[in-house]
Amino acid sequence: MAKTKVITLLGAPGAGKGTQAKILADKFGYKHVSTGEVLRDAVRQGKPLGQKVKAVMEAGELVSDDLVSEIVRERVTAPDAPRVFILDGYPRNVPQATYLDNLGNYIDVYVVDIKLEEEQAVKRLSGRRYCSACGKIYNVFFSPSVKDGICDVCGSQLLQRKDDAEEVIKERFRVYRQQTAPVTDFYSGRPNFFEVDGNREPDEIASEMSCLVNSLESQWSTAEGV
Ligand code: AMP
Repeated sequence: MAKTKVITLLGAPGAGKGTQAKILADKFGYKHVSTGEVLRDAVRQGKPLGQKVKAVMEAGELVSDDLVSEIVRERVTAPDAPRVFILDGYPRNVPQATYLDNLGNYIDVYVVDIKLEEEQAVKRLSGRRYCSACGKIYNVFFSPSVKDGICDVCGSQLLQRKDDAEEVIKERFRVYRQQTAPVTDFYSGRPNFFEVDGNREPDEIASEMSCLVNSLESQWSTAEGV
């Protein structure tokens, strides 16, 4: 039987991994797993996992490898796992990338690095707001709501993620430079490693990503003899 395919999106905080992962998942019907979202949900719902990670996340630090790797492992190796996963936010350091490689009996990994300069990424994060009710995302610099602080769709209050506060953003970038940037070097040069320019409108990036995924799909169909 063909192995599960895992397309993982790399990139600095604010590079657009979550946005692109959602677009691809919708367009191709793939299962999207964001480790950050799983952890934020656990915090919101007051689950034991959430209680363990809340303070670490709010400080902009990385949660322990064991916890996040388990979130990924249980999903991608499940007997009823979907054919393709889009991962965003994992791997975040070289030990996590090595862990993913060690799941090689179950999965084939494809890596897309969304490249974006730090200055641009910081602006995206510090301007980001989300609707407390419907979850729609805005940016005060690039895509503001019509009425300041109010959601255009449902009229609820817009909030800032705690880890998008200026001091926390600085810490997230320090962690990114130290721990996550080396993950790109870990993968670069492999045949399944791709780069896209993240300094463009989300639609433009999405169309390049879709072309890439279409070519992977034809490669997979050929290998599976479809
Ligand atoms: P994100 O939404 O991907 O920016 O993740 C938000 C936060 O969740 C990060 O700042 C980390 O505290 C935590 N987190 C998400 N993914 C990972 C991961 N793969 N390893 C460690 N911590 C993570």
